[in-house]
Amino acid sequence: MKNQLEEQLENLGWQEIANQLDDLLENASRNNVSYFDFLHTLVLRETEARQGNLLSKRMKSAKLPYMKNIHDFEYTFQPSVSEQRVKETLTCRYIANGENRILLGPPGVGKTHLAISFAVEAITQGYTALFLTADEVVSECRKAESKGTLHRLVNKWSRPNLLLIDEVGYFPFDELTANIFFQVVSKRYENGAMILTSNKSFIEWGKVFGDDVLATAILDRLLHHSVTFNIKGESYRLKEKKKAGMFPAKVTE
Ligand code: ADP
Ligand code: MG
Repeated sequence: MKNQLEEQLENLGWQEIANQLDDLLENASRNNVSYFDFLHTLVLRETEARQGNLLSKRMKSAKLPYMKNIHDFEYTFQPSVSEQRVKETLTCRYIANGENRILLGPPGVGKTHLAISFAVEAITQGYTALFLTADEVVSECRKAESKGTLHRLVNKWSRPNLLLIDEVGYFPFDELTANIFFQVVSKRYENGAMILTSNKSFIEWGKVFGDDVLATAILDRLLHHSVTFNIKGESYRLKEKKKAGMFPAKVTE
């Protein structure tokens, strides 16, 4: 049963201390802890627990499709990825400055891996993030249009400190999506960071957005303050399959 002190701590919002009260009291009396150290421990524990809760809340609301870590990224396999640029991005200064990071390259070269790693670092540093695939952008736009909530959608995508859109260009955007995309990019311009990944070079973005003028306006804003990772090279997925013997390493004649 909860004692009165535990209840009062809970009412004050000191949930962590309420949960651990018995252990904390026992430990303090066993080790002859000073009043100052005891109070300090309580405040530290509660602060840490709250920060941990906020971190997991931010992690959840970012809707990352899966976890990836930058420590698992092999630079030797992908020499076109500059480790120095990756490290600079991991400082998250671009987020504070409302800049963008664009990852271009063929399938399997690590674009999504890097994008998720950047998001994880940003969330860990206290920033809010939201991850969307281009496919989700299209379906969310259609849903919002039928419900008459497009305005709300643009606001929702303008809010997070970092907005990630993965797989831009795998298929062309319809007119509605292209327009909403432009609105989001314009609203975020110079105050909200974005990370985009695409298998299409910028020259081909006219086709992606179905309109050269619109694509130019989007790129103009996106590229003004941004760093592009142009990743060239072999697919990591293929390398793994080759290693597993599913493909011959070299085709022999
Ligand atoms: P893309 O988004 O460019 O199509 P992914 O990021 O999905 O590629 O990478 C495909 C798979 O290969 C993922 O499991 C990813 O973790 C892994 N991968 C890609 N590049 C590397 C790399 N340089 N080092 C380690 N793993 C990698
Ligand atoms: Mg990908």
